[in-house]
Amino acid sequence: DSKLRVAILGCTGSIGRQALDVCAQHSDLLEVVALSAHGKTKELVDAARTHHVACVAVTDSSHATDPILAELPKGTELLFGADALARIVVRDDVDCVLNAVVGAAGLTASYETLRSGKRLALANKESLVVGGDVLMPLARPGQMLPVDSEHSAIFQCLVGEERNPIHAIWLTCSGGPFYGRTHDELAGITAADALRHPTWSMGPKITIDSATLMNKGLERIEAMHLFGVPMEQITVLIQRESKIHSMVEYEDGSVIAQLGASDMRIPIQYAFSYPNRWDAPCSRVDFREIASLSFGAPDMETFRCLALAERAGIEGGTYPCVLNAANEVAVHAFLNDECSFTDIACLVERALDAHVREEAESIEQLRDVDAWARSFTAHALKALARS
Ligand code: NDP
Ligand code: MG
Repeated sequence: DSKLRVAILGCTGSIGRQALDVCAQHSDLLEVVALSAHGKTKELVDAARTHHVACVAVTDSSHATDPILAELPKGTELLFGADALARIVVRDDVDCVLNAVVGAAGLTASYETLRSGKRLALANKESLVVGGDVLMPLARPGQMLPVDSEHSAIFQCLVGEERNPIHAIWLTCSGGPFYGRTHDELAGITAADALRHPTWSMGPKITIDSATLMNKGLERIEAMHLFGVPMEQITVLIQRESKIHSMVEYEDGSVIAQLGASDMRIPIQYAFSYPNRWDAPCSRVDFREIASLSFGAPDMETFRCLALAERAGIEGGTYPCVLNAANEVAVHAFLNDECSFTDIACLVERALDAHVREEAESIEQLRDVDAWARSFTAHALKALARS
């Protein structure tokens, strides 16, 4: 039959679970054939049973002995370790890979999916931030479908406009939970404060990135790669209501926007259905109930991560890889109360300052740069704790 056969990498996360919901709602159009989780084996086994998948992977091998795995249906193939993702994407029964892994750990899976010629539904923005120079030349038009809501919006605003140059991209941003705060007010924020995000319910890493605005900085770099537009043509726009998901401005002054409910199932589903549209996976917006839409510019001096990402994106080469790795280490430390909210930007800045730029040429090289930036930031963190 003509169902799209999908593999969901990171099926136990916020995006992964919403993708499984989309697959359940459209079981006449989608078939889930493979799943991965890092350590949540109970949730993985439950999803494998519900969706009758052929193959599951546990990427953190220390969970290989979890007794719950014995409850997988007979005949389910079981893989372990980080390499398992690359083995899933090349399976003959997989047409489309949703990469919903968090962090640079998703890079190899994106790379192998593009090389295999299959559709890549990409939530893992870190893949493009780190490896955009290596990944983009592998992608044929329409092969890589962004799941990040802003990038899905931009992608949709570009459909049918392939011959028209982009004048500017308006990348919308909710402003995060600490919109309007001063630098001093930010310094005292705890992990618990930051995990209470207003608009979207997301995994812990992107929730912190949304609070520091590093998320928007990463998204600007993601957009540069996806749409071939330089940094200065991508303007961050505060849109507090999160109803406009982004806009594209053309040479003639026309601005095209994509709007809709603040629900990730819409861009997830579009990455599967493109170029078609299927029934809505969530409730629709009634515009009569939206009193107003507000716009503003971000405060890049207070939210320094946005400025650091701009610097890394303009420098290019291996700088975005360093930005991302240092940020992953710093966010992890913040979540464990090992540094303050404002230390995140300081740690990222130190790593960028210490790095010597190279052209980004291969996955192996990026893995080495990533490892260097992680160890540099871990040392900087210890120095911070002593001071
Ligand atoms: P979560 O933390 O909720 O989920 C992450 C998933 O990745 C889990 O399935 C987790 O497994 C798995 N995982 C964690 N570490 C590794 C690793 N080292 N190797 C392989 N798999 C791993 O994240 P989100 O769903 O929020 O985000 C996923 C991606 O989507 C991120 O790149 C994020 O930036 C992007 N995104 C998310 C949005 C959202 O609304 N959440 C919006 C736009 C983009 P386990 O649960 O077993 O630990
Ligand atoms: Mg986004």
